[in-house]
Amino acid sequence: MGAAATDLPAADTITSINPGTGQPLGQVPDMGPSEVRAAVDRARAAQREWGQLTVDARCKRVTRFAEVLMERSDEVIDLLVAEGGKTRLEALGMEVIVVADLVRYFAKHAPAMLAPERVPLHLLKHRASYLHFVPRGVVGIVAPWNFPFSIPLGETMMALIAGNGVVLKPSEVTPLIARKAHELYVAAGLPPELFQVVTGRGATGAALIDAGIDYCVFTGSVATGRKVAAACGERLIPCTLELGGKAPAVVCADADLDRAAQAITWGGFANSGQVCASVERVYAVDAVHDALVEKIVAHARALRQGDASSGAEVDVGAMAWDRQVETVERLVTSAVAAGAKVEVGGARGPAPGQFFQPTVLTGCRQDMDVMRKEIFGPVIPIMRVADEGEAVRHANDSHLGLLAYVFTRDRERGNRLAEQIEAGTVMVNDVLATYACPETPWGGVKQSGIGRTHSSIGLRDLSETRHVNHDRVALPREVWWYPYKSSTFRALSRGAKLLFGKRFWQR
Ligand code: NAD
Repeated sequence: MGAAATDLPAADTITSINPGTGQPLGQVPDMGPSEVRAAVDRARAAQREWGQLTVDARCKRVTRFAEVLMERSDEVIDLLVAEGGKTRLEALGMEVIVVADLVRYFAKHAPAMLAPERVPLHLLKHRASYLHFVPRGVVGIVAPWNFPFSIPLGETMMALIAGNGVVLKPSEVTPLIARKAHELYVAAGLPPELFQVVTGRGATGAALIDAGIDYCVFTGSVATGRKVAAACGERLIPCTLELGGKAPAVVCADADLDRAAQAITWGGFANSGQVCASVERVYAVDAVHDALVEKIVAHARALRQGDASSGAEVDVGAMAWDRQVETVERLVTSAVAAGAKVEVGGARGPAPGQFFQPTVLTGCRQDMDVMRKEIFGPVIPIMRVADEGEAVRHANDSHLGLLAYVFTRDRERGNRLAEQIEAGTVMVNDVLATYACPETPWGGVKQSGIGRTHSSIGLRDLSETRHVNHDRVALPREVWWYPYKSSTFRALSRGAKLLFGKRFWQR
């Protein structure tokens, strides 16, 4: 961690603000390449010992983090509300609980997931193979501002369990929560140098990728993801990219409309719509469109918006980043200019904070920017479609494919449509929730990213998969070794025809 931020000269600091009030909360250093490299070196030195521990031992140590987190959850929630603009329930449910549960889950299951795995050989029966999983070294994590705790800390805890050191570069919009996380980590008695936080802007993230890390987990926009992928490619560092989303919700004629309307309202407005899995576009079949809109609008009207850091009980909080409010405003304005109708909301929320009102748009068309670009704010654009076939076509007409949702009472139809939609995860009759299921993989197709976090896949990606092949029966030599003989060729050729050609009963 860097020096006490408040003593630093303004040019080298970043000021974090409360988006609900506009008031400054604190400052952190804007770290340069040498500080970042020193942090990576410290993490690497600590990792040497940590990586030697058994997975069981690492799991036991990391579990203590979940315990400290729950003991001090109020501190974390207060900061998430103040720095992230969240409601208290979102801070608890979408950040704190997600991490505590993830730690508990992997502490229990990681020893089996990372245990050596036998690979039965179908042909070379006299030999045997197994995989074993080795820590990568130092994992660099570059994080966004929308879930400043659950995203990087979930990834950090998994990387530690896999035996790595971690250097985290949090978003410049929400750096204080990362520092708080490090404080809890130290209080949990984990090796202080093993997990480092380097604060700064994009250049600090770029410096981290250049500082000799062994793996990068990046979560953020598509535009930055391209730069990160290029930088990792240049250095041949493997990476996981968790990028943008434009989740469609397909509402079928047989959907439970009460459930669908509540789910879509929450899925569009939770965390002020700043969720990569947010419901970003709704395709409602003609038969249920009007009834669905009526219900969603009624739910949206009932929402209380405001600054939760004042102690008020609110449903929709502030938006963490001022520039995101401008993006949301621009998308709504352009949709309205192109013919969309504002059913509710449509403008910035209560000053002086950074708010945008929960907004429902109808009459949307697929060619509108609001249906094509990531909104990342509390806006639900709805489009009427003739049938579910048209809905799926539009759902797939996107450069993004992170999450998608289908609403139907028919389980078989739900699963069939889910399999037709191009997305990393499709939920039937629910929204968002699988991020909180650490056993399920999280990640996108198309430009939504590369690789997966969470699940055994994500845990193994944080390890190097190494392969050992050994003999079961000691033979003096293998038949394909020197010297090459025509008799060996004939025998191999006959054997290959028998093994790989038509089966004798097909001839
Ligand atoms: P962003 O891309 O602007 O920034 C993300 C992080 O990258 C920040 O820490 C930033 O400082 C850093 N960064 C910027 N330039 C860099 C560079 N050249 N090299 C290395 N790091 C650099 O994204 P954001 O605005 O913080 O987050 C919002 C985006 O994140 C949205 O598009 C959202 O969909 C996406 N997101 C995706 C997921 C997911 O799981 N797929 C989850 C949350 C957010």
